[in-house]
Amino acid sequence: MHVDPIEKKPLNHFFPATSIFSIATTGCNFRCLNCQNWEISQKRPEDVRHSELFPADVVREAKERDTHSIAYTYSEAITYYEYMYDTATRAREAGLKNVLVSNGYINKGPLLRLAEYLDGANINLKSLQEGTKAALAAKKIQQTVLLPTLSVTYRFRHNYEEKSSFLFGVTSPQNQYTFVSTLTQPIFAGFSLVNQYEIAKMGLDGARYNEKLYRHNVIFEAKRAYFSLLKMQKLLEVSELAVKQLEAHKTVANNFYEVGMIPLNDLLKAQVELANIKQNLIVVQNGIDLAKSNLNLILRQDINAPIVIVDITSYTPFYKDIDYCLKQAEKNRLEIKMTDLDIRIKEKELKISKKDFLPSINLQANYYRLGTAWDAKRGSGISDPSSWEVGAVSTWNLWECGRS
Ligand code: SF4
Repeated sequence: MHVDPIEKKPLNHFFPATSIFSIATTGCNFRCLNCQNWEISQKRPEDVRHSELFPADVVREAKERDTHSIAYTYSEAITYYEYMYDTATRAREAGLKNVLVSNGYINKGPLLRLAEYLDGANINLKSLQEGTKAALAAKKIQQTVLLPTLSVTYRFRHNYEEKSSFLFGVTSPQNQYTFVSTLTQPIFAGFSLVNQYEIAKMGLDGARYNEKLYRHNVIFEAKRAYFSLLKMQKLLEVSELAVKQLEAHKTVANNFYEVGMIPLNDLLKAQVELANIKQNLIVVQNGIDLAKSNLNLILRQDINAPIVIVDITSYTPFYKDIDYCLKQAEKNRLEIKMTDLDIRIKEKELKISKKDFLPSINLQANYYRLGTAWDAKRGSGISDPSSWEVGAVSTWNLWECGRS
């Protein structure tokens, strides 16, 4: 339970600047990597600190905390559907608004039943968010290549025979075990580390733009299908009216013809006009069915689900010239931003490909331990069983077959 600002759901045009009473139980029907609420979404109820609240208690708490609405959020609200439904019906009776935050993975029947009591919803598009999260993980990985690395090596060497001298005893043992631990801090890698990090950062921006673009496209498609249906409905009204008018006209023409006031040719013309407009009416009726199916498809509903859409009667004039529109499009179109990002990424990749012409420099600290047994702790013939060294190592590949 928590009281959040409504903008955190996030809902921006729904009772702005009010507080919302947010509740969740444990559990989710997904297992997304990088889930922000994994501590509750992937746990059982008995594994977390919790309170027992009946639906009526939730409504009472929301009112006592002076909130305007209740959010079913954090984990996945669909997993506690019955509890949410009971709470939502009571909240509606008490004059509170209901908000669902969900991954949207629910069957149509229960969704429609619940929708009667919902006032707001935020459905997250998970697959694209995975793309953004993957880019975020790639960026984090690139951050780590700038940090030092610690590695260990363990070696065993077997000589053909032990070497010894009369004065010094064993000088080179037959079996030698070596343990080396190395700490490496990259100092310079031909600018490739910084550029790789920059690319990962831009990749993250690109994934975010992509996610936004997908959302915009879904909204655009839904709006287009909605207005196309609206337009067909208007056309239907006009066509029906035209049929009525031409039917009346044909009747009048028929009467005039029967009393000899007009020639047969005029009557035939009226009949043809009526036949044409009736045909047009059939085309419009088919167009309406098509527009409804299209809208159903975009809304991911049954393709034959009945749809009645509401006309939009308010009109807000748009007093902007073409230059303003072009500037706004250039500034806001995500496709342009994504193309710019692509160019910048390619420039960085070009810089990275030049890194092989330059030397790389690493700071290295090594610690050695030598011995004649597996634990590498001295032995006969080992004069210096442990040592360390610090140095800078510069590597420059002067020629590589087929790559230089
Ligand atoms: S759907 Fe939401 S709550 Fe469930 S695992 Fe994915 S991010 Fe977490």
